[in-house]
Amino acid sequence: PFDVLVVGGGPAGAAAAIYAARKGIRTGVASERFGGQVLDTMAIENFISVKETEGPKMAVALEQHVREYDVDIMDLQRATQLVPAGDDGLVEIRLENGASLKSRTVVLSTGARWRQLGVPGEDQYRNKGVAYCPHCDGPLFKGKRVAVIGGGNSGVEAAIDLAGIVAHVTLVEFDHQLRADEVLQRKVRSLSNVRIVTGAQTTEVTGDGAKVNGLVYKDRAGGDSHRVELEGVFVQIGLLPNTEWLKGVVELSPRGEIIIDDRGQTSVPGVFAAGDATTVPYKQIVIAMGQGASAALSAFDHLIRTPAP
Ligand code: FAD
Repeated sequence: PFDVLVVGGGPAGAAAAIYAARKGIRTGVASERFGGQVLDTMAIENFISVKETEGPKMAVALEQHVREYDVDIMDLQRATQLVPAGDDGLVEIRLENGASLKSRTVVLSTGARWRQLGVPGEDQYRNKGVAYCPHCDGPLFKGKRVAVIGGGNSGVEAAIDLAGIVAHVTLVEFDHQLRADEVLQRKVRSLSNVRIVTGAQTTEVTGDGAKVNGLVYKDRAGGDSHRVELEGVFVQIGLLPNTEWLKGVVELSPRGEIIIDDRGQTSVPGVFAAGDATTVPYKQIVIAMGQGASAALSAFDHLIRTPAP
């Protein structure tokens, strides 16, 4: 069995694996896709001390760093069930391929995925004008025109944030009214370069083959279509944590995020969590890595206080 088994190989999982392995304990990482969301990212300009890098480059660097240590990397492995420790003191992780792994402690770092619109053009122009993270990609649209799709808290926050950087923001909400907190709605309505469109169903992201040049939405009341010319589209209709497989076993928030304390401890003894899959307020690489380090140190702390099975 492992001393620390990390489930998920994104920034949080890579940091957890390195911190655990540096304690000289048996460490493994099982992940569906080593690198995680970073693999889908182009420019990264807010990873402190690295002025600029690209997602795929960072994913390679993550793996190379983990491979410097004695870590058992199990790629292309999807976890489907967690069984809390019984008398043997071992947590079991069952995999989709039928195998199972046992470990004295587990760090869950399965990340999250952005909910997509599912309209033509969205996939084609991903990273070519279609973006999901205003903190990450906002500055790439400096002085340009963008739309934010989604009028909940994250969409309205994004519109307020972007309005300070870009030339113009069109905020598009499917419902007949915005759903964000009143204070955010007041703020967004006060901004002169934000136009709010409600009762609008986004039907297409258009482009010139290389990058985004517009957005088409249907007025749900009248039924007619409108086209907005712009350079960027931020989709803010929800971030879904990859935690469906933990339901009923590990305590989750109403949004499905793994509930952790400030040491990364979950509701299950010996099970810790880090990164976008958790209740951590901001979903960013530096934050996920810091949490991964924290969770691994907490796992080590747990190990030295628990008699070996
Ligand atoms: P993830 O990166 O999501 O990794 C999760 C890991 O778990 C993956 O290895 C996945 O395969 C694995 N996994 C999932 N489910 C299972 C399962 N059941 N069994 C086994 N393995 C599983 N952040 C920034 O700081 N700067 C940026 O510029 C930036 N740009 C971004 C651009 C885009 C397009 C996107 C999508 C995100 C961006 N982010 C950026 C956010 C950043 O990528 C995330 O905050 C970060 O990757 C979270 O790390 P994580 O390790 O928690 O999860």
